[in-house]
Amino acid sequence: MKLLFGYESSKDRWITLKQIFIFDLPKSGINKMLRTHTCGELRLDHVNQKVTLAGWVQRVRNKGGLIWVDLRDRYGVTQLIFEEGSTDKSLLEKAAQLGREFVVQAVGVVIERTSKNDKLPTGAIEIKAEELTVLNPAKVPPFIIEDETDGGDDLRMKYRYLDLRRNVVREKLQLRHRMMQETRKYMDGQNFIEVETPVLIKSTPEGARDFVVPSRVNPGEFYALPQSPQTFKQLLMVSGFDRYFQIVKCFRDEDLRADRQPEFTQIDCEMAFVTQEDILNTFEGLIKHLFSAVKGIELGYVEHMTYADAMKGYGNDKPDLRFDMKFVELDHLAKGKGFSIFDQAELIVGICAKGAAEYTRKQIDELTEWVKRPQIGAKGLVYVRYNADGTLKSSVDKFYSSEDLTFWAQAFGAQPGDLMLVLSGEAKTVRKQLSELRLKMGEDLGLRDRNVFKPLWVVDFPLLEWDEETQRFHAMHHPFTSPKREDIPLLETDPGAVRANAYDLVINGVEIGGGSIRIHDRATQQLMFTHLGFSDEEAQKQFGFLMEAFEYGAPPHGGIAFGFDRLCAIFGGSDSIRDYIAFPKNNSGRDVMIDSPSTIADAQLEELSIRVALKK
Ligand code: ASP
Repeated sequence: MKLLFGYESSKDRWITLKQIFIFDLPKSGINKMLRTHTCGELRLDHVNQKVTLAGWVQRVRNKGGLIWVDLRDRYGVTQLIFEEGSTDKSLLEKAAQLGREFVVQAVGVVIERTSKNDKLPTGAIEIKAEELTVLNPAKVPPFIIEDETDGGDDLRMKYRYLDLRRNVVREKLQLRHRMMQETRKYMDGQNFIEVETPVLIKSTPEGARDFVVPSRVNPGEFYALPQSPQTFKQLLMVSGFDRYFQIVKCFRDEDLRADRQPEFTQIDCEMAFVTQEDILNTFEGLIKHLFSAVKGIELGYVEHMTYADAMKGYGNDKPDLRFDMKFVELDHLAKGKGFSIFDQAELIVGICAKGAAEYTRKQIDELTEWVKRPQIGAKGLVYVRYNADGTLKSSVDKFYSSEDLTFWAQAFGAQPGDLMLVLSGEAKTVRKQLSELRLKMGEDLGLRDRNVFKPLWVVDFPLLEWDEETQRFHAMHHPFTSPKREDIPLLETDPGAVRANAYDLVINGVEIGGGSIRIHDRATQQLMFTHLGFSDEEAQKQFGFLMEAFEYGAPPHGGIAFGFDRLCAIFGGSDSIRDYIAFPKNNSGRDVMIDSPSTIADAQLEELSIRVALKK
């Protein structure tokens, strides 16, 4: 028994409020009403105990006078046995009528199995059933609810609640749960305060379209759902909160891909009175904590790389560092030898695939076709094979002597047995193409091991990015990111060259987080909006509140946000974030289970003062 006290302020004394009785919970922590144990709990130690289990019928095997039922719940599977002779006949008949996914309760005695199943934690025992109650029958499920299922994606999404019964699916959400708990534990330990910010807001420019919600009481006006809580977390810094975090839903109306969902979750963070280094250290700490607590992996040193180096060395601002294959530029060695394609190219650049000299002619032709596909868009592929006997064989032997190729090999640091692959063209394009080829080679050579984790901070991103479509500069991160002080003069002369105090955390070639040190004064923020093409009125209308807040004592601040679903997918060794979301949407942004989005009733439209006139 425990007493709960309360303070009675009028009498300035403590009084007893309540007496709480604390019962000993069963070991499994479940209540004792419908079951005594879970289906994952019983072992040889329990033999001869009378138990009550409840769960779903996973499978029934009926051998006439002998029936086995696999009973499943969240914790595991336990085998029930109904045997003619020792079980009364009506019980046997009842068991024979069970179907897949019936919800049942069974009472029986734990016995040792004659043939044990060492793949199942409960495989040494079974329950000799004495009573059976069908708590709820079930229709035949549309797919088999086991680890290996016959259900296709669409069907499983329509019946996601059944899909979630499968171990392999549930385990992913359990991983997510653990990640969430460990995140909160770490952040709380670092003095961060979790603050909820509103969901009905106005647009935050994070580069995507907004989802909007009509306001009934303000006809003709709309809220936007947050693409992130960016401006709110900055305002919390102005409020003096100092260290904020939130595990928060964000909404972006973008084209969907396997690793994108219209609503997704971020670990959103902001800190005041910090340098970029402080932020990187704090969140390197978070990632290290998660790896250690959730996966038992101690991450080592986290490399830092500038955006410029990442682009030059890997053609990518999120390089996969599980393997090397760094770009080698060959202009000085390959130009001026009569090969006009190289002579005319802005850049000649290649990679060295270790141990791939054994690629056959056919495999190399396939690689050539692969880089020529429209998705990659290269014109061709030059290869140099460094044979095991030390000779060099290339697809451009006509133009390059073996001495020339030896210089190439030296530049690549190649050894006999290696294969060098070279592309050429316009610098930006060719780097992008080679980056794709590098990833493919890494994949083909088995160098992208899902159990190896290589985190990396990419720093010094450009502040602005030229957008061909709109013919103007966009903020590469977002408009609240501060330029590097020494680059501010370049804003007038060469805006594309201005670097930002912005950084991304990349793991295994996947961007899992990004942030920046923010602008915290009105003048710089206004200058930034001007460079982004906002008129003063537009900037004032959309972000006047933030600029005004900066005039009331805004501390220097910065932050970061992690894509939580993606982080879970990386931890789980999967490419798809969808698996880590309980009720995800499909590729058309549709929830096929609840059938949403959907039309709404005329009365609802009326209330909202909205008339729908779809454009043809
Ligand atoms: N709000 C940013 C994002 O969602 C992250 C940040 O700058 O903190 O990408």
